[in-house]
Amino acid sequence: MGAGHSLDLCMEQLIQTQMKKTVFITGASSGFGKATVKLFHQKGWNVIATMRSPENEKELSAFSGVLVTRLDVTDNSSIGEAVQTGIRQFGGIDVLVNNAGFGTLGTLEAAPEEAIQQQFEVNVFGLIKVTKAVLPDMRARKTGIIINVSSVGGRVTFPFCTLYHATKFAVEGLTESLQYELNPLGIRTKLVEPGGYKTDFAGRSMNIYGTDGLDDYQQPFESFLGRLADWPMSENIGEVAEVIYEAATDGAEKLRYPVGHDAVQLLETRQQIDDVVFKKMMVGQTGI
Ligand code: NAP
Repeated sequence: MGAGHSLDLCMEQLIQTQMKKTVFITGASSGFGKATVKLFHQKGWNVIATMRSPENEKELSAFSGVLVTRLDVTDNSSIGEAVQTGIRQFGGIDVLVNNAGFGTLGTLEAAPEEAIQQQFEVNVFGLIKVTKAVLPDMRARKTGIIINVSSVGGRVTFPFCTLYHATKFAVEGLTESLQYELNPLGIRTKLVEPGGYKTDFAGRSMNIYGTDGLDDYQQPFESFLGRLADWPMSENIGEVAEVIYEAATDGAEKLRYPVGHDAVQLLETRQQIDDVVFKKMMVGQTGI
């Protein structure tokens, strides 16, 4: 085979790669992020699967068209490098999925300063940093979709999750407002709002600082934990990936995509009752 022929093959491969759409996903090491990588890959997309420790990822690295690369949403240089590497390899980013996030559980008064900072660093400031890094490419190409993984907890609240809700409410406001400045440039913003799912979220992605021995909060906190343990968590993680894919491909103006039976039911209930009735319902259901 001549040198000219292999050059042609390389060019053809490059053109094929660049004709496919490309999605950039944060927090792709587990849970919704990993399921979303697999689904977009199955659908024939190029995928930039970003995570804090890519050296531990064996499964996704074996897929062709999937670039596994390091990104910590709190580390600007890792964000810049992941975005530039992805664009070099695939030609551009059509869809950004801001998925990386974690939760905190405990009373506000007991929350250590570091836990407060970290909750916002990852769930809000990190999401903003990644968005800002991807926007120049989307703006230059006048196309793009930014999908922010919020939560049902971005629209309704549970007790003892104040910081987590504060971050997800922030993500909701940011995403809703951002559409005004980005829609005229051909870029859409979307919110995916899952209910409870059995990922690593309630385990290694949950920072439980509790009550720090403050007696006034102890009994209600324990009641809440007891009820939380009984909360039905869905095992169908793929359902969330499907909704993220829908948000990326439906061509609709739609902003919010609740997902999961519990999320849909809770949001419907919330729309029908006022703040006081909702609070009483939540107090009753959580036993605090
Ligand atoms: P998960 O399996 O624990 O995944 C969380 C991901 O975030 C992990 O890949 C983790 O990476 C990553 N992450 C954490 N800090 C990061 C950082 N500084 N930089 C980059 N990545 C970071 O939980 P999940 O349920 O799939 O959570 C994904 C998103 O869904 C989160 O935004 C969460 O708030 C939201 N959500 C979850 C539920 C639920 O019930 N599961 C419900 C509503 C919303 P490492 O592997 O490096 O730790």
